[in-house]
Amino acid sequence: MKKEPVKIKEVEAKVRAENFNEVILGYGEEEALAEAGRCLQCKNPLCISGCPVEIDIKTFIYKITQKDYAGAYNTIREKNNFPSICGRVCPAEYQCRKACVLSKKGEPFATPQAINIHFLERFIGDYGMNHNDSTPHAPRPTPHAKRVAIVGSGPAGIACAGELARRGIKVVMFEGLHKLGGVLRYGIPPFRLPRNILDYEIDSLKKMGVEFIPNFIVGRNKDVDELLKEGFSSVFLGLGAGIPSFLGIKGENLCNIYSANEFLTRVNLMSAYKFPKAHTPVNIGKSMVVIGGGNTAMDAARCALRLQKMNGINPNTTILYRRSEVEMPARRLEIEHAKEEGIQFKLLVKPQEFFGDEKGFVTKLRCLQCELGKPDSSGRRKPIEIPGSDFEVDCDIAIVAIGLNANQILTKVTPALKTDKYGDIIVEQEAMETSIKNVFAGGDIVGGEGTVIEAMGMAKKAAKAIIDRLK
Ligand code: FAD
Ligand code: SF4
Repeated sequence: MKKEPVKIKEVEAKVRAENFNEVILGYGEEEALAEAGRCLQCKNPLCISGCPVEIDIKTFIYKITQKDYAGAYNTIREKNNFPSICGRVCPAEYQCRKACVLSKKGEPFATPQAINIHFLERFIGDYGMNHNDSTPHAPRPTPHAKRVAIVGSGPAGIACAGELARRGIKVVMFEGLHKLGGVLRYGIPPFRLPRNILDYEIDSLKKMGVEFIPNFIVGRNKDVDELLKEGFSSVFLGLGAGIPSFLGIKGENLCNIYSANEFLTRVNLMSAYKFPKAHTPVNIGKSMVVIGGGNTAMDAARCALRLQKMNGINPNTTILYRRSEVEMPARRLEIEHAKEEGIQFKLLVKPQEFFGDEKGFVTKLRCLQCELGKPDSSGRRKPIEIPGSDFEVDCDIAIVAIGLNANQILTKVTPALKTDKYGDIIVEQEAMETSIKNVFAGGDIVGGEGTVIEAMGMAKKAAKAIIDRLK
């Protein structure tokens, strides 16, 4: 008889939508054992090839069934240094779970019967953290150790740092912001990734001898050439894609129209949800619209709704997306959670023009209804505007979350660094080396917007090449 998937514990929607505490509570031991027990231990485990860093999923799940949690932790750590993070944010339904034989084939994402690999990974990651196994016993770098500079402290930067530090290489990490973690800190809200998890992982890097230099923009305070001349044997660039795209429609410069990046940075990095205890505020409205269908849009909408509730405003937050729900790139769980929390979805709509009041504040948005056409270059069905279908949506805050582009502060002042038409750094795929010798790159600055584990996968490849070069 088929065993049913073990449901994950979550905080009730009504309760969680009023604060920024973690929504998913995770598996306890009994639940993890039951879920691991559903794994068929396939001869040819397809799930492994679905994971960008090819974690030995079959083995770690088997070790759970044997209650060998430390063993399972070590198996994961062979390929992924940050299981507590990935177990919380990985879009597993498009990756490992989609490849699981229990998932129905031909669907755009994993179906519920697939093993909940990410929840098991989270269980084991948290086990490691709670048993203080997170810091590998790395040799502390000697005063004469080779030094590598890492620019950017997002998933790519920290993954590269971890790989190098555990081999006794001295790593110095430069970060433009005052806090470390990249999107994990300023983008993904604490109700999805509690900050103690991120802090723990960053602390474990510190314990391994990694030196962090925040408030330091490479390309402004110092350039890549200077770092190499100062004696860093290699430089790794994990600059991310931090520059938001805009709609390019009339009225977009009105007040109270935010990029999702600014909105999320104010809320998550600067703790605007604690204002006035925290210094940075964010404007909250009675009718907030979020334009987009990715994780950024879901995060912005869920933060907006929480802020409305916490400020005693009857929540009214709507996501506007130009395709249908199937084409939304966001994690399925995030879409479900957003709906449960009371966010409204208006699908197949394309914004045309913002309107404002006499003081220059946005008041409404005119949209056109769309229908789906044939698939475009992204493989998703293309939205086609229906002429004459105009309608208006009232809004006193609008958040634009339609995509992110390469952060070009460094690349613009480094002409020897080859980039493509999007401003992404071009690398040689095997070693992730750029057009400058001993300068490597990975994460969103290379492939464009991707996932946390994809960024980490690229960084690991670069770290391997850096280590080989040092030998
Ligand atoms: P980033 O995380 O962007 O980090 C780059 C860092 O480099 C930043 O801290 C930046 O300040 C710093 N930097 C840039 N230039 C310089 C410079 N010149 N000098 C010094 N520092 C510099 N992926 C998932 O897998 N699951 C999710 O649930 C998910 N949700 C997301 C939600 C949001 C809101 C966003 C924006 C993205 C989300 N993603 C998610 C995508 C994922 O976060 C990214 O793919 C990932 O963070 C890329 O990692 P990175 O290290 O390349 O870049
Ligand atoms: Fe799946 Fe992500 Fe874990 Fe890989 S890292 S096994 S893709 S949840």
